[in-house]
Amino acid sequence: MTDPEQLAGRLVAGDRRALAQSITLVESTRPDHRSEAAALLDAVLGRTGGAARLGITGTPGAGKSTFIEELGSSLTAGGHRVAVLAVDPSSRRSGGSILGDKTRMERLARNPGAFIRPSPSGGSIGGVARRTREAALLCEAAGFDVIVVETVGVGQSEVAVADMVDCFCLIVAPGAGDELQGIKRGIIELADVVVVNKADGDLLPAARRAIADYRQAVHLLRPKHAGWAVPVLATSALEGTGVDEVWAAVEKLVAHLREDDALDRLRAGQAVAWMWDEIREHLIDSFRHDPRVATRWSDTEEAVRAGRLSPTTAARRLLDAHRVTDA
Ligand code: GDP
Repeated sequence: MTDPEQLAGRLVAGDRRALAQSITLVESTRPDHRSEAAALLDAVLGRTGGAARLGITGTPGAGKSTFIEELGSSLTAGGHRVAVLAVDPSSRRSGGSILGDKTRMERLARNPGAFIRPSPSGGSIGGVARRTREAALLCEAAGFDVIVVETVGVGQSEVAVADMVDCFCLIVAPGAGDELQGIKRGIIELADVVVVNKADGDLLPAARRAIADYRQAVHLLRPKHAGWAVPVLATSALEGTGVDEVWAAVEKLVAHLREDDALDRLRAGQAVAWMWDEIREHLIDSFRHDPRVATRWSDTEEAVRAGRLSPTTAARRLLDAHRVTDA
């Protein structure tokens, strides 16, 4: 049993153990923990919102962790406090996570100005995203002024991360050909900044081609924010070049969004969308646990699978059964 008020007090005082403990609490699915976590989040809400929130995505091997180490080291050297969180949808399927691997970002992990937390494991992408959003708020309350949320560019998780940050950054590595390496158009559309990493050594000519290709690709897109042309920047995370320019672009976007309150509107919209996500998850959960639904759904699924019942009618029957219970 945790006292949320007491934990909140230690958290805002900057106690790192309290932060780790708080994140463990919000990651728990136990109902009593959920209500303690909600009380904790309510207690610290007034201390949140002060950080720059940066999302990073890219295919495995593009150089995300090398880049984040470099960026994190540079920011902490400049007096920032940097929290790195991850949304890794692969951890459930593969049994081991791509992003949660403890050997990643070893240097940054030892840095007292940084805090690294691997992805919560298991559950739906919605559940993983919710726990990461909550962890981000806790990090802000603990005084971290830069929150980096990393995700691997393989599916729905980019949308979830783009919906929780101020600036979403796509990291790509130069490919052998001049095509956009299978990066889906939808992901490029989410990006506020594109980084072509590994612009060094033998890869330099390929990096130059990739930069030209991405510049053309982003030029053809409808702008995500009025007045913001998505920059395509070159870095070598390995050599540490270009990383500060990426941060300058992030700060420039945040300043641009602040100009006409677009940042507040963006965050307000994200908060409301989060509320509806939360409602959706709870409704589905209570629906699945409803005994009247539970006794019917495998037969109903079977009937749909066999083509004896249309999905629409099947859904309506289960929903009706749920409503009967509510009455
Ligand atoms: P992640 O899977 O996206 O996190 O990628 P990593 O950061 O683990 O990097 C994958 C591989 O690319 C590692 O072997 C890195 O050393 C290498 N790498 C990362 N950044 C650079 C870079 O800027 N230049 C070069 N040449 N290699 C890099």
